[in-house]
Amino acid sequence: MRTGGCQCGRLRCESAGEPLALHVCHCRECQKQSASAFGMSLTVPRSSFSLTAGEPNVWSRPTDNGGRSEAAFCPACGSRVWRQASATSETLNVKAGSLDKLIDLASAVHIWVSRKLRGVVIPEGLEQHPREPPAG
Ligand SMILES: [Zn+2]
Ligand SMILES: [Zn+2]
Repeated sequence: MRTGGCQCGRLRCESAGEPLALHVCHCRECQKQSASAFGMSLTVPRSSFSLTAGEPNVWSRPTDNGGRSEAAFCPACGSRVWRQASATSETLNVKAGSLDKLIDLASAVHIWVSRKLRGVVIPEGLEQHPREPPAG
């Protein structure tokens, strides 16, 4: 069981089972949303995920492929905790820095490395893509 939550602790959530993917994304949207160098997303099945405390605010934006991206964040401290295409999508992306147990990036897949900040070094041998990874 993975547990996590926002910076102030009002929002708490948990997910069980094997995550589907771990991405480090260097795109501009992730730099903006994290106000930092990159975003870290742990993709989990929605069926394995539950909100155990608090109620998030949601901010939504259009995506390049014509869909939406909804970001759930704490109304008190503002931390983003997860992102989803919609409230009914089959998977959601937990912001990996919100997890209580420190995330291990040693096997993360790096995407949008064409936007990577100078000075950020990706360990040799890790899968990486200049933009989105190929579908499938
Ligand atoms: Zn909070
Ligand atoms: Zn991104």
